Amino acid sequence: MTLYLKDATFVDWQSLQMKKTCLAVEAGPDAGFSFLDKVPPLDKLTPGERILDCTGKLVTKSFGCGHHHIYSTLARGMPAPPRSPVNFVEILKYIWWRLDKCLDLEMIEASALASAIYCAKNGVTLIVDHHASPFAIKNSLPTIAKAFDRVGLSHLLCYEISDRDGEAVRDAGLAETDAFLSAGYQGHVGLHASFTVSDELLTSAVALAEKHSTGIHMHIAEDLADQEQTIATYGARAVERLKRAGALDRKKSILSHCIHLSQAEKELIRNSGVWVAQNAESNQNNNVGLASYKSITGNVLLGTDGMHSDMLRSAKAAFLAGQATEGIAFDEIYTRFRNVHRYAREFGLRGDRDNNLLVLDYDSPTEVMPDNFLAHFVFGIDSRHVTAVICKGTVIVEGGRVTTIDETKVLAHAREMSKKLWAAMKRHAE
Ligand SMILES: [Zn+2]
Repeated sequence: MTLYLKDATFVDWQSLQMKKTCLAVEAGPDAGFSFLDKVPPLDKLTPGERILDCTGKLVTKSFGCGHHHIYSTLARGMPAPPRSPVNFVEILKYIWWRLDKCLDLEMIEASALASAIYCAKNGVTLIVDHHASPFAIKNSLPTIAKAFDRVGLSHLLCYEISDRDGEAVRDAGLAETDAFLSAGYQGHVGLHASFTVSDELLTSAVALAEKHSTGIHMHIAEDLADQEQTIATYGARAVERLKRAGALDRKKSILSHCIHLSQAEKELIRNSGVWVAQNAESNQNNNVGLASYKSITGNVLLGTDGMHSDMLRSAKAAFLAGQATEGIAFDEIYTRFRNVHRYAREFGLRGDRDNNLLVLDYDSPTEVMPDNFLAHFVFGIDSRHVTAVICKGTVIVEGGRVTTIDETKVLAHAREMSKKLWAAMKRHAE
């Protein structure tokens, strides 16, 4: 089945070369597109084929998120915790662990659907998610996968296993991960953070990652407390511990944050070829510090850390934060923004091929050219310019609305689920 894009200004996401052209986009997780001089006449289309008029619009590859938490979707506007956190570990204990313990499968589905709508409308078609729901682990990952599938997005999921809620919850996390990956879904073996993961669990997780030929997805040195508690309990720094356990041999691994690393740890990461996810807004929000990623590795992905689902916003925030920390240039931030596709290609992920595209109605006061595109990317192009999104060759957003699901109904249900979640959190605190 072919989708025709008529009279587009196509921007190649790698070379930034631009051309006025029509495109024939094929459907399917591994399909692509071809250029055409003109689209076929309407009476020559077969059933299911259609033409999207892109006159005056930019068309380019859609986006990906390298580190997301859909489980936090229903946190927006929730009542303040009974005690105000004064440091990062208290932020986890009083806010996020209080929330994730109260999630049930219906709330998880509502969170995933609402988050998927936001991702789709922001042009984000590949989502790497890190999920937590310690008392609703079984079937949590297929629930999220099916929600993303309903909206039409591609995904790479994991459950963040830890020892923080005891052995039974830890084992349920390992079992869910094994079952999910055994069922043929693409994903990681997720771990929460070094200070909440015992040596025994780390060993089991690396073995599970080897079994399924995947990597570990884990928070590393987000706050100094992760390093301090890891050193005190396990006698090694967080990345040194990963090295000993063999986690750095799993090149598909994603280490999120990496703010507080020693020189030796940076070298271990750089030499291993694993990936690091930068989440500048979350780091600023939690006041945990900011890293200079150039000193760690070129394998840097950008994420949202669950704060929102807008990768253009993440890129702009990382650019501004990077001015102070590492003097980052336009092309360097754009490379990080687009590295998620290089990651997808390196590990043969499904659903991020050339038939993932978006249409931008970009009302620029100045001309957009290959040699100034990056300045438009940093200072001009916003999610509000995204008018249509194509994932795996299928239109999932058109006229700024999701076409695959009833947005109004999904968000109304999410609001009901948020009330149920907040009430559960209130009971939990009493
Ligand atoms: Zn995170």
